[in-house]
Amino acid sequence: MIKHHIHPEILMAYAAGKTSPSVSLIVASHITLCSECRKGVESFENLGGKLLEDSDPVEINSSSLESILGKLDNIELDDQFDEPTDKVNSFKNIPSVLSKYLPDTDILTDEWKKSIGGIKYFDIDLGDFKQNTHARMLSIPPGRKLPHHGHESQELTLVLEGGFSDENGSYNAGDVAIEDENNIHTPVSDPSEGCVCLVVYEGKLKFKGLFGPILNILNK
Ligand SMILES: [Zn+2]
Repeated sequence: MIKHHIHPEILMAYAAGKTSPSVSLIVASHITLCSECRKGVESFENLGGKLLEDSDPVEINSSSLESILGKLDNIELDDQFDEPTDKVNSFKNIPSVLSKYLPDTDILTDEWKKSIGGIKYFDIDLGDFKQNTHARMLSIPPGRKLPHHGHESQELTLVLEGGFSDENGSYNAGDVAIEDENNIHTPVSDPSEGCVCLVVYEGKLKFKGLFGPILNILNK
């Protein structure tokens, strides 16, 4: 059961088409797994975005966004997490709106880059790198403690397999953790299953732990 959801203000911005492509991707992925947030998006869509009329528009890559939002029409809500995908054989919980951006054959092909500590990652380029927004899939082995780190701005993490825990609680498949510049956290992956997740962050991570300098280089 999903315990950690996407904040209503993000759902509202998404419904109005004002989130970046990377944030749109993580929202689209979460709402295929979460009926509560999907209903939230539908409610905001019904409001016609009127609540956002006074807010500043966000510049986005419209073709990427249309690609993501266009896919939404075909999304089947799936609270049982068993949506099959053709591309990803090893991981049953990858929504198709997300898997279409991953390497074709398997989630952990050679196209995934290796980081320290057995962590693998795959960057999804949705055209908003220049706006300092990044979407990255992470596969973290069991029981791995990530360096203590803070953020320049917001980070959203959607758990797809396994889970992790940090100072704020535990997160399992479907859960979204949202951190901002006021949080410094030390996540630890699930001791038996590890964690596969989609992370979207704005700005550079500021790693402060033992491996911080290495990870900071990786993020340049
Ligand atoms: Zn939710």
